Amino acid sequence: MVEKVIPIRINEGKGLAPPIPTQLVEGPQSIADSRGRTLRDLRISVTDRCNFRCTYCMPKEIFDNNYPYLAHNDLLTFEEIARLTNIFAGIGVEKIRLTGGEPLLRKNLEALIEMLAKIHTPSGQPLELTLTTNGSLLRKKSATLKLAGLQRLTISLDGLSDAIFQKMNGVDFPVSDVLDGIKAAQEAGFTNIKVNMVVKKGTNDQEILPMAKYFKGTGVILRFIEFMDVGSSNGWNMEQVLPSKEVLAKVNEVFPLEPVHANYAGEVAKRWRYADGSGEIGVISSVTQTFCHECSRARISTDGQMYLCLFASEGYDFKTLLRSGKSDLEITNSIMGTWSKRDDHYSEIRGSQISNMSSSNRKVEMSYIGG
Ligand code: SAM
Ligand code: SF4
Ligand code: SF4
Repeated sequence: MVEKVIPIRINEGKGLAPPIPTQLVEGPQSIADSRGRTLRDLRISVTDRCNFRCTYCMPKEIFDNNYPYLAHNDLLTFEEIARLTNIFAGIGVEKIRLTGGEPLLRKNLEALIEMLAKIHTPSGQPLELTLTTNGSLLRKKSATLKLAGLQRLTISLDGLSDAIFQKMNGVDFPVSDVLDGIKAAQEAGFTNIKVNMVVKKGTNDQEILPMAKYFKGTGVILRFIEFMDVGSSNGWNMEQVLPSKEVLAKVNEVFPLEPVHANYAGEVAKRWRYADGSGEIGVISSVTQTFCHECSRARISTDGQMYLCLFASEGYDFKTLLRSGKSDLEITNSIMGTWSKRDDHYSEIRGSQISNMSSSNRKVEMSYIGG
């Protein structure tokens, strides 16, 4: 039973004011936070709306018709997102992930992707441009997304059983339509597609092996995510977390696995490959094996607040800054000032945080800042 709470989704336009340094620093640079972590990765939520009501993210008891979604005017425009992205690229960000809510619900998203695909790092490299989606609109949109310049896709799917998946997505969406979306993405030329499966103990753990078997040998990389205590409305408790170690043991028993080195420092998923050479899987152990020490991610919420951690309660209001005539250099310095003070490491201190959590420091909802 999900407790009815008023979820935090916005700072009502009163996010923490980011610092504007008086001495402006010119030139491309990278920034480390107070724990020595360099900003490399930016997740941008392009909408707080979704056509699913996943029980672990936007439970329908709370995200109902009365839910106060953001007004169109509060959303960052494509021009504002592109401007911010360009600024972030100038200070070391190499990877952009568009997310939400369901990002494919944002009207004409392809136009934004075209704008972002033209942005380069100071060394002349295009940004790595990826998107996370529930897959429901991929049959319709894969080809235009590819054409616009999107490089990679992550698609969420929590099982192959309709009974289980429909219960989890909250809107009776059928498995076959997501599988068809994945097929459409492959037909459009997307490779290295990742499929995210949130594992909730007692809800969909029996889907682990069928999912592994289904995607083995297809080139799709299945990643098992531990159910996380994001937001304040998904009724999370530790009993519903199946540790990745147990997921790996289950798969390994049937399909032997070998560890694989990370693609890059700070990669969220730990990689494993099938010993018979038929592909790879990943596990994201945000609860049982935390990775805050190498977390290089910042998040921009749908209404332009910068969040320094998925579990933060407050963001820094860059929308107001963007709309107040500040120069790129001033905003650059402001981002640098904000990131350099960052000390967030929620997953490492989760236990004590949960017991101290009061209604005034509840965490922001994931649909608002993106997964
Ligand atoms: N709507 C898109 C989707 O579902 O792929 C993008 C946004 S969604 C918030 C991003 C990712 O976060 C999804 O893969 C989703 O499964 C994951 N997610 C959401 N709530 C979660 C939770 N409580 N624990 C773990 N992962 C979660
Ligand atoms: Fe929507 Fe994605 Fe959240 Fe599910 S996980 S409710 S699809 S935003
Ligand atoms: Fe990064 Fe916060 Fe997650 Fe730690 S808890 S890995 S700091 S987002």
